[in-house]
Amino acid sequence: MTIDTSSTVLEASGVVAGYAGKTILQQLDLHVRAGEIVALLGANGAGKTTTLNLFLGFLAPSAGLVRVAGIDPARQSDAARRKLAYIPENVALYEHLSARENVAYLLHLAGQPAAAGAIDQALGAAGLAAPAFDRRVAGFSKGMRQKVAIALALARKVPALLLDEPTSGLDPQATAEFNRLLAALRAQGVAILMVTHDLLSAADVADRIGFLDAGRLREEVAAAGAERFDVRALHRRYGGVAA
Ligand code: ATP
Repeated sequence: MTIDTSSTVLEASGVVAGYAGKTILQQLDLHVRAGEIVALLGANGAGKTTTLNLFLGFLAPSAGLVRVAGIDPARQSDAARRKLAYIPENVALYEHLSARENVAYLLHLAGQPAAAGAIDQALGAAGLAAPAFDRRVAGFSKGMRQKVAIALALARKVPALLLDEPTSGLDPQATAEFNRLLAALRAQGVAILMVTHDLLSAADVADRIGFLDAGRLREEVAAAGAERFDVRALHRRYGGVAA
């Protein structure tokens, strides 16, 4: 597949937004292209989840422009959400159903039913071990639940993925495995935006790291060279913002 990396899938330009008269995001400019991973870091309350809410259409900007694959999520939230997969910090699944049944049912709810073969392929591509496909998800770890959610995103073939704190609570091995999965999605052309407090993990996988401070993107740093990011320097500079 050829990826048109010039195409912006997630766009926020000059966005001002907030809740009940309280402005949270101030002139936010954030763009994620196809085949790109952007990590958004910032202190508690900086506006990271609010940014995700904008793309999900839960919040309308009072100024500026928000687009998901060219669609305004505030005006056409259903159409915009069809282009997105959202993976919250704790993935909610039907506990009494198996991994395979969850994906089948959630695809059905999304109006995109898929054949059993396609579901198994997605679960496999998401890194879930085959013996777990038929197990009830009630006993699944956070990492396994994320794989089920990623499988759903793969089966839906969405152009954009939003992740909220994906690696919090994952051990280093599960974090590395999850980041490899994100890199595989990037290679397929998915535009990925994740909000996180995990600078190390962001530096491992992101193409750009944005630092949000009181609703403003203070700076964006792009990966460069073999080391990608100077994590120690970033930590020194943004420790107060990113920690
Ligand atoms: P954290 O790292 O703690 O998740 P965050 O950067 O994701 O923080 P947001 O959740 O976007 O921050 O919150 C930004 C600000 O907006 C905070 O001051 C918060 O109290 C406020 N806020 C969030 N959701 C609402 C809401 N539904 N109604 C009113 N205020 C809200």
